[in-house]
Amino acid sequence: MNSEAKQEPLNNQSDNSDEKWGYDLYPERRGEKYNPSFARIALLGEGRESSDKFKCEKNVWNCVQNSPLVKLMLSALKSSGCEVDLKRHISCEVCDVTVNGGYDSELNQVVVCQNVSRSQGMTQAVLTHELIHMFDHCRNKLDFTNLEHLACTEIRAANLTHCSFMSSMIQGDSSPINIAKSHQDCVKTKAMYSVLSVRRVTKEEATGVVDRVFDRCYNDLEPIGRRMRRNSLDMHKAYRERFLYGYD
Ligand SMILES: [Zn+2]
Repeated sequence: MNSEAKQEPLNNQSDNSDEKWGYDLYPERRGEKYNPSFARIALLGEGRESSDKFKCEKNVWNCVQNSPLVKLMLSALKSSGCEVDLKRHISCEVCDVTVNGGYDSELNQVVVCQNVSRSQGMTQAVLTHELIHMFDHCRNKLDFTNLEHLACTEIRAANLTHCSFMSSMIQGDSSPINIAKSHQDCVKTKAMYSVLSVRRVTKEEATGVVDRVFDRCYNDLEPIGRRMRRNSLDMHKAYRERFLYGYD
């Protein structure tokens, strides 16, 4: 399974009437327990939600203890006056299989999709990505119904995490000379698909809104302070230098 193909939509329950708002990707957000039919249990091996939840919560706990990026995001949130209480602000749930996580701006809660984000690595990626949305919501009073705000926070999340972990060399479309350009293209593409996955807009509209806010949002590297490179010491460096940005 290619986890990077999955998007991390935002969720908001109040605007379901707005057809541009999005999709029903988080059945448990409406207070309903996800209930697989017997056919689905037989075919897809579902019906093991409680053990999935337990593993998911264990992965979250390990990330909070050991992942420099997750720890950096948590301390940045704390310093910005939005301290994260794990039980209150992070929730493992069953989601639609097209998503691996989400941020619910109304409840100020990060969702980790226990049926999709099963590994420690994916859990770290989801947590970091969604905590960037939480940080933007905390710092900038982001309005997730505003398409430009949404595009901006998706650009920042792709920039600081996803695209920095994907070698543009592996994507096969770059020489060392145009890596910077490829990184930008990666961020644009990823952000565009993130917008597309949660809003009923056309590809052209999503591309347009990402382009409009791109420069401003791409150059805003707070709170991580640098773009990460895979297998580099960057994430440890960022965590060590967090005091430079006023985080403790
Ligand atoms: Zn996102």
